[in-house]
Amino acid sequence: MRSHIRLGKIFGIRVGLHFSWFLIALLMVFSLSTQFRLINPAWSTGFILTLAITTAILFFVSLLLHELAHSLMARSHGIPVREITLFALGGVSQIEGDSPDAKTEFRIAFVGPLTSLLIGLLCLTAARLIPGAVSPGKLMLAWLGFINLSLAIFNLIPGYPLDGGRVLRALLWWKSGDVVRATRIAAATGQVVGGVFIALGIVQFFFGANYGGLWISFIGWFLLMAAGETRRQAGLTRAIRDVRVADIMSHDCATVDGGQSVQDLVERLFRSGRRCFLVLEDGLVAGLVTPHEIRQVERSQWPVTPVDSVMRPLQGMQAVRPDAPLANALQVMTRENVNQLPVMSDSHLEGVLSRAEVLNYLQTRAELEQ
Ligand SMILES: [Zn+2]
Repeated sequence: MRSHIRLGKIFGIRVGLHFSWFLIALLMVFSLSTQFRLINPAWSTGFILTLAITTAILFFVSLLLHELAHSLMARSHGIPVREITLFALGGVSQIEGDSPDAKTEFRIAFVGPLTSLLIGLLCLTAARLIPGAVSPGKLMLAWLGFINLSLAIFNLIPGYPLDGGRVLRALLWWKSGDVVRATRIAAATGQVVGGVFIALGIVQFFFGANYGGLWISFIGWFLLMAAGETRRQAGLTRAIRDVRVADIMSHDCATVDGGQSVQDLVERLFRSGRRCFLVLEDGLVAGLVTPHEIRQVERSQWPVTPVDSVMRPLQGMQAVRPDAPLANALQVMTRENVNQLPVMSDSHLEGVLSRAEVLNYLQTRAELEQ
């Protein structure tokens, strides 16, 4: 999940919006306006809309505080955070790295719902303190209080990747000392929770004639997918826990001169069947070029485009160390959405690890183990 629109930084952590966020923002303003109109039909449309938009903004601020709590807790334990993204189904903190121990994992997971719980209680208390019957401020605070409490409870459902699932994972990890097993169990409960949500949503849609049911199903589907992916990854991590990057990376990468044209490179690519070339400049490796980079250039421009103008420069590229566990390298590949990673020790290029090699390796292993 990458942000499409950057909003800025809070405590040094980037905050952004995914395009899908606009969908939930619109739905929320629409639903709030309808509710507010029912409560006080005498309010003007302009007033109701302003109230709905303000309430929605405050809701997203409280959601952001929830994510910020996760992110700041992670960072205080030395785990870097890439950014916080708000999207259709809420917020997500992109924490780059695993917790070193179960206790840290518990803290990072639990602090989010705890924040929502505190915001909820605070808003409800403030709403009660405002005297009189229904006033706009009271209504807004009451709604924010209710929604934040719901958020806290919903997030504590013990299905990974919900916060409750992470808490469950931390507890299992703490009890057994086996993080991979804990992850697999937490992810399996996440799949069950996802399945239940889908079923509940369908029932609600057909018998309650309620579009909210579709939303619940959608959340369930998202959970099911994410939990399934986590479970597969945990299984993979178990299978390759002793393998290092150096064991399967290729040392003899083909090289191409930076001044050569893309056309020349494509011809070599077809001849050799390789998918990754190191680009040399003055005899030193300056970058990588793969079919992905080539596709960015229009075919008619191939003969006149030098390779070094399309390559991914080595500088600033995520690299892995040869002694890094293969599982970590795979995580980096997935996160950065790349098929190759340069393997560097100090500032020396040792080789390249490609997804194809990893798959080959896994296939061979699976065949031999059968
Ligand atoms: Zn959370």
